Amino acid sequence: MSQHSYDVIVAGVGAMGSASCWHLAQRGLKVLGLERFDLGHAMGSSHGLTRIIRLAYFEGSHYVPIVKRAHELWAQTGEQAGMKLLHVTGSLDLAPKGGGPVESSLQSCLDHGLTHEVLEGSEVTRRFPAFQLPEGHIGLWQPDGGFVASEKAIYAHVGLAQSHGAEIRTNEPMLDWTPTAQGGVIVRTERGTYSAGRLVITSGGWIADAVPTLKERVSTVKQAIGWFTTRRPELFREGAFPVFILSADEGTFYGFPLYEHPGFKLGGPHFGREPIDPHDQDRTPSENQIRLIRECLARYIPDAAGEPLTVKGCIYTVSPDEDFIIDTVPGVPQAVFASACSGHGFKFASAIGEILADLSTSGQSPFDLKPFSLSRLPA
Ligand SMILES: Cc1cc2nc3c(=O)[nH]c(=O)nc-3n(C[C@H](O)[C@H](O)[C@H](O)COP(=O)(O)OP(=O)(O)OC[C@H]3O[C@@H](n4cnc5c(N)ncnc54)[C@H](O)[C@@H]3O)c2cc1C
Repeated sequence: MSQHSYDVIVAGVGAMGSASCWHLAQRGLKVLGLERFDLGHAMGSSHGLTRIIRLAYFEGSHYVPIVKRAHELWAQTGEQAGMKLLHVTGSLDLAPKGGGPVESSLQSCLDHGLTHEVLEGSEVTRRFPAFQLPEGHIGLWQPDGGFVASEKAIYAHVGLAQSHGAEIRTNEPMLDWTPTAQGGVIVRTERGTYSAGRLVITSGGWIADAVPTLKERVSTVKQAIGWFTTRRPELFREGAFPVFILSADEGTFYGFPLYEHPGFKLGGPHFGREPIDPHDQDRTPSENQIRLIRECLARYIPDAAGEPLTVKGCIYTVSPDEDFIIDTVPGVPQAVFASACSGHGFKFASAIGEILADLSTSGQSPFDLKPFSLSRLPA
């Protein structure tokens, strides 16, 4: 077997890994990206055309500085790659007044001076007639939110990384890795053995294979997304309809304007998760998940409650407190990782790639990463 040498190996070229390859390669480093499947595959966490980007962040104000940087980078990377990655549509959090998510998102806007409006349910429906909200629901409108074209984002990052010399090998999973006495790493695949000064582990749902200490700390669950026939597509076109997160009795659901598919895309229920082993090849969503999505459409967005055109399953990698984990592997400072983005990480990928490149090259980040440390989670 041949042994090639790199400055950095990135294991897992999905959302976080493709961005890492780009940020490392543009710094002039010799980068190898290893990917288990082909690019843009539908076995991980990043397929399905779109991911919401929200600056108003009910999950916590501490995310806002990073998502602001990510927003900037999505626009910039799209321009550099000649692809439109960031679509600004405005974002809506919809929840019962006093129920939590709207108030938490509002707090993040106040903490970080984000433009926003709190809307009564009737005003939400006046602006966006597709919604039929439950009595007592209110909305938080934030005009900078929108969506990122998810597979395109991976292609864009990889294309840019390759144009700066990165080598990307698909269908070649990392089998294992070992630190060397000289402070580097050796990575083994079925096709070869590679050495590098640094390792970035971004293997998503499979992260615990490479970072065994995560086995007790993260879990993988299946989520459903579907595209449904709309009676009135004009209500859902980009420009007429925002991205949204709706908390209702049935669960938390999220949706998008029409984009590169004739159907209206709805995902969820965000917290209604079903365990999955990522090594199991079946990604079919359960009947219960699809039933809940269809009930949500029928009650709250009836003009999009037509027949399903496409349904897909997707993996969330979840930490116990639903905050990300971005850290170095314990005892191995030359290996960094990011995962357990708990179903809300894609929007950050452009910035997390930059953060992992910073950690790999200088051991530091301009962002406060304490909320994302491994040590916050009991083993
Ligand atoms: C249905 C659904 C909807 C979502 N909606 C949103 C949203 O609207 N907004 C948002 O911000 N986030 C959202 N998320 C979450 C977001 O998509 C994820 O946090 C993000 O995609 C995770 O990126 P990742 O790079 O960690 O994983 P992935 O993109 O899955 O990448 C991991 C990669 O590692 C590869 N790999 C695994 N093992 C190995 C190995 N041993 N060697 C080499 N390669 C390996 C995998 O094949 C994969 O390509 C959603 C997730 C799902 C599932």
